[in-house]
Amino acid sequence: MRITAAVLNKYDTPFEIQDLEIGQPQSGEVLIRIIATGICHTDGLAQHADLPFPTPGVLGHEGAGIVEALGPNVTQLEVGDSVIIGWPWCGECENCLAGQPRYCAQLGPLLAGGSRPDGTTSLSQAGQPIHSHFFGQSSFATHAIARATALVKVPAGSDLSKMGPLACGISTGAGAIFNALKPELGSSIVIYGTGAVGLAAIMAAKNTGASVIIGVDLNENRLKLAQKYGATHVISAGKVEPVAEVKHILGGLADYAVECTGNLNVVRQAIDSVGMLGTACLIGGAPANSEFSVDHISTLWGKRIIGILGGEGTSTKLISSLLELNRIGRFPYDELIVEFPLSEINEALAASYSGEVLKPVLIMPQS
Ligand SMILES: [Zn+2]
Ligand SMILES: [Zn+2]
Repeated sequence: MRITAAVLNKYDTPFEIQDLEIGQPQSGEVLIRIIATGICHTDGLAQHADLPFPTPGVLGHEGAGIVEALGPNVTQLEVGDSVIIGWPWCGECENCLAGQPRYCAQLGPLLAGGSRPDGTTSLSQAGQPIHSHFFGQSSFATHAIARATALVKVPAGSDLSKMGPLACGISTGAGAIFNALKPELGSSIVIYGTGAVGLAAIMAAKNTGASVIIGVDLNENRLKLAQKYGATHVISAGKVEPVAEVKHILGGLADYAVECTGNLNVVRQAIDSVGMLGTACLIGGAPANSEFSVDHISTLWGKRIIGILGGEGTSTKLISSLLELNRIGRFPYDELIVEFPLSEINEALAASYSGEVLKPVLIMPQS
């Protein structure tokens, strides 16, 4: 079947809108007509080879759409179902069996291998394979093939144009709070980086007993949004030294910090912002092979530094719960979305990098 996709032909070049062929869904897979796909910074990392997804290939990992065809051995879905495409997982390794599919032993190849585990791709052009299955989906396209077990079914008639970002960025920020940190009554939390991921973390923190929520960013506009969505204090990192300001606000160090930027200086600030028995949670993606250092003695005092992927938990529980919080007005992530047609993917990514747009979403042409 012929489809339209935004193809990354070479690293560090713009996406090109091209016609491709998509094959049949294989065992356990589903063909999905994509309605919309969010753009996440990980797509930008892959575009610049900081995540080793092979080219030529199709990125995109926050897709939502309608099931168009089922491969063999798919029993839990029907043609016509509305779905959000969550993260893939093998279902057989120790971590998957322990209920931690975000830490699937096969996660690396499933997210960025560029093909199915058997090496085949779902996409091709003039008989030449095009790398597919980015985050198990490659959804910068009118259609995608994904594993049925990665799909989260949502009610028929749902506004799918608003739901893709729940597959990665928004869930990453919110899941760090709800699944990993679980801040207790009266606790303090500092969120470094108040883009879409950080704002989702702030919205989530507002739903907990944390009584001090501090947003830190360089961008004044994002700091205004941080206050709008639940920050009790904000720190303009270009004007003051953030760790000193955290101490000034709290009269000491924080219980929790969440690092959403992937900037190594900020990673250190997040770690230095929490005190004894505090937890610094790292969720921002830094370029490959990045390293950071910490003050050794301060970490002996019960400090924990943890890395979190994709908000932990399962896509089904996380996405369904966030959708319900959104429906009752307690998690307004959809207000961060700005829509672009697929043909403006490069402009959308640029608007995200500049900070002008918090969460760009590509709307697919429907034929
Ligand atoms: Zn696994
Ligand atoms: Zn992502």
